[in-house]
Amino acid sequence: MAYKTINPFTNEIIKTFSNPTEKQIEHALTVGNNLYHQWQKEPFSARAEKLHEIADLLLKNKEKLAKVLVVEMGKLIGEARGEVELCALIADYFADHSAELLQPASINTKAGEARVEKHSVGVLLMVEPWNFPYYQIMRVFAPNYMVGNPMILKHSSNTPSSAEAFEKIVNEAGAPEGSLTNLFLTHNQVDQVIADPRIQGVALTGSERGGSSVAQAAGKYLKKSSMELGGNDAFIVLDDADLDQVLKVAARARTYNAGQVCTSSKRFIVADNLYDEFLERLGQSYKNFKPGDPLDENTTLAPMSSAKAKSKLEEQVNEAIAHGATLYQGNSQINLPGQFFEPTILTDITQDNPAYYEEMFGSVAQVYRVHSEQEAIDLANNSHYGLGGIVFSKNKERGKKVASQIETGMVFVNTFLYTLPELPFGGVKNSGYGREMSTIGLNAFVNEKLIVAVDKPDFDNRAGALF
Ligand code: NAP
Repeated sequence: MAYKTINPFTNEIIKTFSNPTEKQIEHALTVGNNLYHQWQKEPFSARAEKLHEIADLLLKNKEKLAKVLVVEMGKLIGEARGEVELCALIADYFADHSAELLQPASINTKAGEARVEKHSVGVLLMVEPWNFPYYQIMRVFAPNYMVGNPMILKHSSNTPSSAEAFEKIVNEAGAPEGSLTNLFLTHNQVDQVIADPRIQGVALTGSERGGSSVAQAAGKYLKKSSMELGGNDAFIVLDDADLDQVLKVAARARTYNAGQVCTSSKRFIVADNLYDEFLERLGQSYKNFKPGDPLDENTTLAPMSSAKAKSKLEEQVNEAIAHGATLYQGNSQINLPGQFFEPTILTDITQDNPAYYEEMFGSVAQVYRVHSEQEAIDLANNSHYGLGGIVFSKNKERGKKVASQIETGMVFVNTFLYTLPELPFGGVKNSGYGREMSTIGLNAFVNEKLIVAVDKPDFDNRAGALF
């Protein structure tokens, strides 16, 4: 498997990269493991300064780093700058809060003076996707750097330059060698690294297919894992929703990052009384996109990340239409050499259509008409995925009640789907397990160690004693 940087706007192959040798893999594991033992002797707070330095360097190099993303996976330059800023925000947050969040917690028990301490576990492997090349790394890196778990990074085979750029920032900030080691691993080498006893956890973000394969290896070798996988998020428009507000969010909820977002709103579920106007106005908003060079500030429609991503989406749309879906708008060729896909709207998708359950990873909005709140909830939950979701209602309390009934890991009422360091990110069902970011993500790869101490054993107090 070759790692390549191919510009999806020009289709030019910019650079190819070699897989690591056995010696390089062994070196990464040794250095990481030594660092783990060194970090065990330091308090969590000792690492905060370097993480702030990483945040500062990201911001100082924002323009250069953003361009790497644009050239490598076609992201609009404005969105690429936003990604770099978000990474700095995440780094600063975990630098500021981790030491406090990792403090031991006391337990009230008759066994004695009891507390749960937080300890690092060892070297982790992170396997990341191409859609947010820096942000995906940072979600795992920032908390685990503070915990004291050194990391090996295996990035997507189409975003090797982003992986190198991120690693360089970490090194330039003066983080010790092994804090984050980027290796262009093959899939077999991923399994080999997971099998190594020095690896104590695996965090993957990616597709169900990739997740299932890596989770299998993690299970085989008894390594803890977290899986952040795909989604088929619902955007529910209840019958009392304010369509002006709805449209402001809906227009971008499926097209941001050329629609290549796990938590994109992929299914718009709209109350009957608002359906026709919603569809018409969503269609109008899609007509305003301007395809072009993603480095040009005036471009609003970026190419997709690769020829493979585009052709897969085209196949899915054609298959959906062949199975009876109505093409309301879009799906025409854009006369530019890059991997452009016109924002598309499909309606009349029935349950026997493959599109009903599939994740379409690009700007294709499926729009469904429903006749009651319950029908909206049932449709939203009739999915193999369970990642995020959005609900709109003029009555926030009603929106919250509906949100509680959606079987996903995250639901936002009357607003965008945010990703912020203090908020847990992750899903249920085939969207995976575990959470990244927040205190939950901080504790994902932590040894929660119980310590109970007394001055001498109390032999009159033996209920529960394994003695
Ligand atoms: P992918 O094909 O699963 O790839 C993700 C990563 O897994 C890449 O580094 C890939 O490496 C690696 N990988 C895939 N199969 C593997 C195997 N058998 N063994 C070892 N490594 C393997 O996913 P993608 O197409 O890049 O990403 C898009 C998917 O990610 C979508 O489904 C999206 O919804 C999901 N996603 C989820 C979240 C979330 O937080 N839940 C966030 C973003 C994206 P190679 O490139 O070398 O194959």
